[in-house]
Amino acid sequence: MTSRRKFIQTAGFAGAAALIGLPEISLAEKRPASGTTKPIVLSTWKRGLAANDGAWKVLSANGRALDAVEKGVNVTEADFTDRSVGLGALPDRDGHVTLDASIMDEHGSCGSVAFLQHIMHPVSVARLVMEKTPHVMLVGEGALQFALENGFKKEPDKLSPASEQAWKEWLKKSEYKPVVNIENHDTIGMIALDAAGNLSGSCTTSGLAYKMHGRVGDSPIIGAGMYVDNEVGAACATGVGEAVMKICGSFLVVEYMRQGMSPDAACRAAVKRLTERNPNYKDIQVGFLALNKQGETGAYAVQHGFNYALCDSSGNKLVDADFFVN
Ligand code: ASP
Repeated sequence: MTSRRKFIQTAGFAGAAALIGLPEISLAEKRPASGTTKPIVLSTWKRGLAANDGAWKVLSANGRALDAVEKGVNVTEADFTDRSVGLGALPDRDGHVTLDASIMDEHGSCGSVAFLQHIMHPVSVARLVMEKTPHVMLVGEGALQFALENGFKKEPDKLSPASEQAWKEWLKKSEYKPVVNIENHDTIGMIALDAAGNLSGSCTTSGLAYKMHGRVGDSPIIGAGMYVDNEVGAACATGVGEAVMKICGSFLVVEYMRQGMSPDAACRAAVKRLTERNPNYKDIQVGFLALNKQGETGAYAVQHGFNYALCDSSGNKLVDADFFVN
């Protein structure tokens, strides 16, 4: 590994990249970070601003990135007016809200839940799967049973008024078509680097609106919707989960960073791969976020309209990501 990395550095990244089948990037993009930005947290879409505030309370008090990414997305999960995350979100085609979530820490430990109903904080159940069971993933009834055994409250299967109205409108045509770039996209993914230099990530969603009952997206799949490698960096994804799963998107972004790419170049390379593997890429949206061990950040999307919230000691701000399709 070390000798291969050395080879890449000595031979010039562009040439070596071609040899091992990576998209070529300029040397400037792989230059090491000049300084370290930490703590730092970033999360998908505008809803990330409030979530980052929650995470920052932990990070600014020298807390652990794992606690920050859980508490941060808990803010979004608890917002019953959010139509894409948590129990107030848009339902599946049968009118049920089913939730997916995952979490991963600096040791490579991870937990996830999928197709979970009735629970306000699926990411916290995912954390308990990681900490209290020998497993990584629990789904459906089993995940619910585990949550209830661990003191989570069973909430009613009742849609928020806005979601119920939207679902009833959708039922008139019952046409399944993911909507590109709606402001309220369907996931919050969050990645953070704490003051001790450790990385963690989380992801929580109601999945695509009006999906088939039982459909699970990329968000609870470790390596697809989110991935952390404390030696290298962390990444998360949002958008059409089927397209992300086909390329193990977040794992791919982290592996590109391991091979020397900046977070931004890694997100671009992953989007390029995604467009090669998904002929329908012009009709869908996917966005990636990345953060490396030095606190450098990157983002890139298939289409216009993906934004993310970035918070460090200089403040919490919304940033527009670059995109592939013109
Ligand atoms: N990635 C999510 C899913 O496919 C949805 C989204 O982020 O919009 O379930």
